[in-house]
Amino acid sequence: MVRSDRLLDEVKTFNDLVAEVQSKGICGKCGGCVSFCSAGEFNALGMREDGSPWLMDEAKCVKCGICYLICPQVKVLDPELDDKMFWKPPIGPNLRLVSARTTSPRVMEVCTDGGVVTSVLTYALEKGLIQAAIVSRKTGPFERQPMVATSPEELIEAAGSHFEETFHLDEIGRRYNSFVPSVRDIKSLGKRNLERVALVGTPCQVYTFRKMQLLKVVPSDAIALTIGLFCMENFAFDEAARQRLERKMGVPLDNIRKLNIKDDVLVTRQNGEVVHIPFEIVHEVARPACFACPDFACDYADISCGGLGSPDGYTTTLVRTSLGETVYNGAKQEGYIQEWSPPEEERADLHKKQMMEKIVSFAQRKKERARHILSE
Ligand SMILES: Cc1cc2nc3c(=O)[nH]c(=O)nc-3n(C[C@H](O)[C@H](O)[C@H](O)COP(=O)(O)OP(=O)(O)OC[C@H]3O[C@@H](n4cnc5c(N)ncnc54)[C@H](O)[C@@H]3O)c2cc1C
Ligand code: SF4
Ligand code: SF4
Ligand code: SF4
Repeated sequence: MVRSDRLLDEVKTFNDLVAEVQSKGICGKCGGCVSFCSAGEFNALGMREDGSPWLMDEAKCVKCGICYLICPQVKVLDPELDDKMFWKPPIGPNLRLVSARTTSPRVMEVCTDGGVVTSVLTYALEKGLIQAAIVSRKTGPFERQPMVATSPEELIEAAGSHFEETFHLDEIGRRYNSFVPSVRDIKSLGKRNLERVALVGTPCQVYTFRKMQLLKVVPSDAIALTIGLFCMENFAFDEAARQRLERKMGVPLDNIRKLNIKDDVLVTRQNGEVVHIPFEIVHEVARPACFACPDFACDYADISCGGLGSPDGYTTTLVRTSLGETVYNGAKQEGYIQEWSPPEEERADLHKKQMMEKIVSFAQRKKERARHILSE
């Protein structure tokens, strides 16, 4: 249990989330507070259609403080979490940093960068280290839904950022949202008798999960492995914003075959042409909550993955914990993934140094952005 007396002195509840998070416009609508409310069965908290939480019945609140403490916009548990996760500046633990990719042609065909996420999960599943993984499947451009994958086929279904299907973009009043409320799916694990599950998520999701683990919120003990994604921002926008975005990008959404995020946003058109879009252009459709988020490299994951710093077709893979190292090494030794090295061996150290410098620079930019927004 969390040792700090300061947390026991003053229990903060959902009303404090309203004051400190919702009213500042930085609620990310992740649903964590509602899903893990101790008075869940009594409906103390509810969720509106747009995903925002509200206090349905204050009399039913047992004042446990869980909703407040696990909210990704609340940082009071950071000292305990940093201790537990051996966090150190500037981006948390780093046991190994490599550019790697899958050895499976099938995964390579569908993955986002090098398919490391899907192949490490496939290895863990096939060797019985996990029974399932919380991932997310595409339901449209800038739209995904969480899913509990229990087979390699389902992992492949969830991989990548391709938009090969014909999506219908012209529904009136349509909204786009690429944020996936994966944390809510942790709730379902107990009912499904799943005891060893991997969680793939953005930094805010892994952060909330780690806080649940620290507070021993059931069934967070069922999460056996976390694979984090680097994340500058996620997107939520309506039809009018979509049209503005398309004009600025110069590419209609239904002409996009694939999206990658590295130094900037790489849009691959249906004809294979790649267009580089600066982050400044997509900022307009980022979720407001993301501007208050300080974590880029998913500092609390077992393994963090991104595209930044690696050659095309490879995943920048940052192994952070001894568990992450065991799983990563197993996947490599069993031939699920392979590492990239520059042609001249002596440049390998330089490549690692340059990758690390890029990650640290993006992490610092994001921290600075959050500091600026929260001080306004
Ligand atoms: C919203 C978002 C922002 C990102 N921003 C950056 C960035 O700024 N810089 C950078 O270097 N990398 C960023 N990444 C990570 C990068 O795009 C790749 O996901 C990462 O390199 C892994 O590639 P892969 O080929 O190994 O993964 P794959 O093998 O393709 O597997 C990807 C996994 O991620 C899951 N997933 C996809 N989208 C989401 C989502 N929205 N929420 C939760 N899980 C999801 C899939 O279900 C799948 O399991 C971002 C990813 C996301 C989802
Ligand atoms: S019961 Fe606990 S989790 Fe639910 S609203 Fe009250 S303080 Fe929050
Ligand atoms: S960010 Fe998530 S946990 Fe925090 S108030 Fe919003 S929905 Fe609840
Ligand atoms: S920027 Fe932060 S809050 Fe937004 S999706 Fe990424 S990790 Fe979550």
